[in-house]
Amino acid sequence: MPMSEATPMIRQYLDIKAEHHDVLLFYRMGDFYELFFDDAKKASELLDITLTTRGKYRGQPIPMCGVPFHSVDTYLKKLVVLGRSVAICEQIGDPKTAKGTVDREVRRVITPGTLIEEELLGDANESILLAISPAQKRRDLDGVAWLNLSVNELRVTRAATSELKSLIERVQPSEILVPEGYDCDSLNLSSQELDYLQFDPDLAGRALQSHFGVSELSGFGLNEEPLVCGAVAALLSYAKDACRQPLEFITSVHWDYATDHIHMDAQTRRDLELTERIGDRSQRGTLASVIDYTKSPMGFRLLRSWLNEPLTDTSRIVERQGTVQALLSAPVLDEIRTTLAGVGDLHRMTTRLALFTATPRDLKRIGQGLRAFESIRRHLMDLDVPHEHAQIAHISNVEEVAALIERSLVDDPPATIREGGMIRPGYDAELDQIRDLVHNSNEYLKQIELNEQLKTKITNLRVGYNRVHGYYIEVPKSATFEIPGEYIRRQTLKNAERYITPELREFEEKILSSKATLLQREKQIWDELLNQLHKHCDTLRRIAEILSRTDVLCGFAFLALRHRLVRPNFVSEPLVDIKDGKHIVVETENDMQFVPNSTLLDSTRRVLIITGPNMGGKSTFMRQTALIVILAYTGCFVPASEATLGPIDRIFTRVGASDDLAGGRSTFMVEMSEAANILHNATPNSLVLLDEIGRGTSTYDGLALAWAIAEELTLRIGAFVLFATHYFEMTTLALNHKNVHNVHLDAVEHNNEVVFLHTVHDGSASKSYGIQVAKLAGIPSRVIRKALGRLQSYEAREKLEQHGSGDLFEDAKPDISAFADDVLAEIEQIDADVMSPKDALAYLYALKEKISNQPTE
Ligand code: ATP
Repeated sequence: MPMSEATPMIRQYLDIKAEHHDVLLFYRMGDFYELFFDDAKKASELLDITLTTRGKYRGQPIPMCGVPFHSVDTYLKKLVVLGRSVAICEQIGDPKTAKGTVDREVRRVITPGTLIEEELLGDANESILLAISPAQKRRDLDGVAWLNLSVNELRVTRAATSELKSLIERVQPSEILVPEGYDCDSLNLSSQELDYLQFDPDLAGRALQSHFGVSELSGFGLNEEPLVCGAVAALLSYAKDACRQPLEFITSVHWDYATDHIHMDAQTRRDLELTERIGDRSQRGTLASVIDYTKSPMGFRLLRSWLNEPLTDTSRIVERQGTVQALLSAPVLDEIRTTLAGVGDLHRMTTRLALFTATPRDLKRIGQGLRAFESIRRHLMDLDVPHEHAQIAHISNVEEVAALIERSLVDDPPATIREGGMIRPGYDAELDQIRDLVHNSNEYLKQIELNEQLKTKITNLRVGYNRVHGYYIEVPKSATFEIPGEYIRRQTLKNAERYITPELREFEEKILSSKATLLQREKQIWDELLNQLHKHCDTLRRIAEILSRTDVLCGFAFLALRHRLVRPNFVSEPLVDIKDGKHIVVETENDMQFVPNSTLLDSTRRVLIITGPNMGGKSTFMRQTALIVILAYTGCFVPASEATLGPIDRIFTRVGASDDLAGGRSTFMVEMSEAANILHNATPNSLVLLDEIGRGTSTYDGLALAWAIAEELTLRIGAFVLFATHYFEMTTLALNHKNVHNVHLDAVEHNNEVVFLHTVHDGSASKSYGIQVAKLAGIPSRVIRKALGRLQSYEAREKLEQHGSGDLFEDAKPDISAFADDVLAEIEQIDADVMSPKDALAYLYALKEKISNQPTE
């Protein structure tokens, strides 16, 4: 269609849209961002806003919807959560002076993986962009890079295609970039396809040299890594385009080695409820929420990432432990924590400074963060924390930067620079002069008023100002005959006339231009200030990292004191030896006495088959073991009286039954896929938790599978396994394999009620108390009686079977409880009041007869 048919505004819109065809275009018009055509239809549906039309294009009404600019963040947040990207197109010309359509430009593309805006991110969330540059040959490794823009962290690695899924589960990117034609189906990923040239190794190498300002990439470990370079280059180019910024502050690349962390897949993290709980967005009751005593949002984010990626390198953990130990007995611990509360999100504010989008309040808080750092540094230097000393010693310029911010900004600066008012009086002489002129204008006006009153002898003459007519001299109608000749009428009111004089007009021009000059000068000083502070971004980032780490370690120290945690020891031989361990979440969240239990796994005791009653504490015992291992390998102290741990490389769980109907997998299928993953990937250093494996199918199939899986883990893999089961047959595994041991949890029956002791003992249990637990859960007593009757009959049948006959699944004989229920129901129906004594006696005989003929087993 010829563009000439469109109005100039729509022509401009279409030109801009052509460059952003794959994202929603928010087109600024006055106080609204408007969307047109298909974008309008999509947005009105996604945001639940009204769809209207505006004008016509090719004879058809143009669909349109819009959002007010002052609440745009709420809408952007919704779209980002839905995985949508949005180009924000602003008016860059002045609508008042523009001839024809005002100039517009896309200033930012908001995409889920490149968020830096505080309002869109939320305190605890991360926005991570990940790019995959696939290998040409199947057996080669893919190049992977990911960027957390809001804290300026760029990481890279190489991964086999089979490892990609677990890498992605660990990193949890918000957006994934791949070259056109990449087959994501096998990974079950949704991703963004880019032109494959963006990943081209040759072009990438050159682009990265230019970005980092180096002639070769060996300093980044990227010189012989064409695929990783491809991923980094595609990622940077996409992020630069989204932010409309050269992102020069990204100056380093961290290699991420899979062996650095204890590997846990997403399912394991979810099962163990480390940082999130299924079906509960509040994050209450997670390990992170229970052990969190951090004071800043960046501290909490670091804590979560430590929990998701426990280290394997014990020397780094021992460094963390050393600091926790020193803080724990330091009298200044409370003071450091209080100071940390005032630090805020230095990390993100620094990124905004690097992007030149920092607000006056950001800078003020950066200044406060620096003062907090100075005080914390002094405290840390007095403690025996050699690792922290090494980090903080070489940080310089702190005083200089803090003083500059304090000198230049007022105590309580405005949220934006739009109206000015952020620069402190005394910082710039020229600015002070202009300010004086503007602020003293009231005095000056009063003087004019007095002079005019004297001159005209009109005592109720007033000088005033209104937005439409500007400055004026107001004279009551009754006195207008006395006005001097130079008075020029501006406005007539009911009882007064308003005039302007040459002197007042001159003053007006001066004031209006002074206000504009004032804003201009303040903006100029602001830009200079940003430029000056921008040079210190690297230092600020280092300080933010140190403060986040200190925050987490102080939180660990506080937690250790509060919950009386102990420092775990690490050894190089295979061992998990936990004395009197506790499940810190169950203990904290439930108001009850927690019974501690010990776990011992070593080279002669690799598999524990855990039996015991329902509700006995089997799952709790298994999970507490895993959580203690995770806490220990993040540097935290642990809830036990003693803990010694050998190397652990992976933790796997297969806990509970859930189906994945959306993914087309039944409960049993999910269970078996998870078990398959464990059998393929577990090693002798892995910790495997299996809860009720094989329950999703028929008894014999399930038992057979559970047996075979346990044997495979014992014989072929030799992993550390905690295996909770109600198949008591599994306990005989210990008879055949010396590495397999039985432990059980106890319950006792007291006055027909079951009492759980929650203590773990060697040996196996023989009873599940399932029916008693069902009674506790509120199953009606009639159903419980029936179940008990059935149970007796099954048990009797089993005894017979053990003597060589019968089949467990053959229809059971009628049982006593069913008969008793029938009789009781019959008696209930009788209306004794209308029965004659003779009828009653006859009924009693009939009942006796019936009972004497009851079915027996
Ligand atoms: P099921 O076989 O029915 O799955 P289970 O043996 O796995 O049961 P858990 O789910 O571990 O039992 O524990 C049930 C409840 O018992 C927990 O929610 C907790 O309230 C309590 N509990 C478990 N262990 C302990 C303990 N060591 N001390 C105190 N209470 C405990």
